[in-house]
Amino acid sequence: MATAESPFAAFAAELDELSAQQLRRQRRTRTTPADTHIVADGRAVLSFCSNDYLGLAHHPLLIDAAKQALDESGLGGAASHLVSGHHLQHARLEQRLQAFTGWPALSFATGYAANVGIIPALVGREDAIFADRLNHASLNDGCLLSRATFRRFAHQDLNQLATLLATTPARRRLIVVDGVYSMDGDLAPLPELLALAEQYDAWLYVDDAHGLGVLGEHGRGCAEYWGLHHPRLIQLLTFGKAAGVQGAAVCGDALLIDWLLNRCRSYIYTTASPPALAAALCVSLDLIEGGQQRRETLRAHIRQLREGCADLPWTLLPSETAIQPLRVGSNEETQKLADRLWQRGLWVPGIRPPTVPVGQGRLRISLSAAHTEDDIRLLLEGLHACAREWQGGTPDYDSAAH
Ligand code: PMP
Repeated sequence: MATAESPFAAFAAELDELSAQQLRRQRRTRTTPADTHIVADGRAVLSFCSNDYLGLAHHPLLIDAAKQALDESGLGGAASHLVSGHHLQHARLEQRLQAFTGWPALSFATGYAANVGIIPALVGREDAIFADRLNHASLNDGCLLSRATFRRFAHQDLNQLATLLATTPARRRLIVVDGVYSMDGDLAPLPELLALAEQYDAWLYVDDAHGLGVLGEHGRGCAEYWGLHHPRLIQLLTFGKAAGVQGAAVCGDALLIDWLLNRCRSYIYTTASPPALAAALCVSLDLIEGGQQRRETLRAHIRQLREGCADLPWTLLPSETAIQPLRVGSNEETQKLADRLWQRGLWVPGIRPPTVPVGQGRLRISLSAAHTEDDIRLLLEGLHACAREWQGGTPDYDSAAH
């Protein structure tokens, strides 16, 4: 709590303003592993707010691989990769990623670090970036750090993108998109984007944080989904979501990877991540590749949810991915609905500005292969009970899901 004596007292009024707008952030503390049925803030709840889309975060094979590697390789990375932090486990992971994507790979400690380092290593003052307006914050931060001309096009508006590409002079051009948009769940049309990249001699950088594991027959993400193996494509995979671990990797042309190894500041100037995470990731990639059953279960949950939401007063945005956004509108309504569901034992995060545009508050329902049909049914019951309450019915907390 800021006080008048605090040297940061100026923030107090701004934080109060955030509270007044229902935009003040707060955390809940989870005391169980990341699963679907968890305990947070001392309350047993059914979670729809994790990015563990395949239910791998607590998979025994991953945990065993990490434990074994901890015994063999120790815990800390101890130094940056280019000094002495690069361990055989990291090298194995990069080899495994090459087999997985068909491209050389460079691994990073987190997706955020990868995005803020790679983009400025690719383009600078004489260059131009063309970015979708709904790109993830880490991509925007990387674009701003690069000092390249930064042009943003309306979400999925390829006509506007083509106009910007045609009218923006630059030495190098980089198109930047999310493979799956993190708050909308829709897919960037990569074949069309690559056609534009070819036409205007640009590179295409795709952040596939939410596609890996979920899209494509083998879960290889949006490149597999669209059937692409293209030299202009730069793929960024992150491992804290469907892969169930932590970290990221950029995959692409061999010269690109060599350049980043030499020039990407967030790769060079940071401690290598614990080798045990790389060991667990190799197992995770095996489980992803062989995870057809998990993906089928996830698709069944998506169908069940979408059918069950059809007659709600809130609209489920079109999405075939694990991210199912239910559009509510104002900050107040969004938070109220999230709070009501929480009271019913359902944890579904309310997403408000600046994460989404003003007036487009939503519940970000994240589905996982680890959910059961019953879990989805409980969520639907909760949403319909809230809808009745909204329409003037009686609040009905006693029949709460948990
Ligand atoms: N890109 C996207 C699209 C994301 O959603 C996220 C995480 N929310 C990141 C990058 C950052 O990845 P990490 O959590 O590994 O830092």
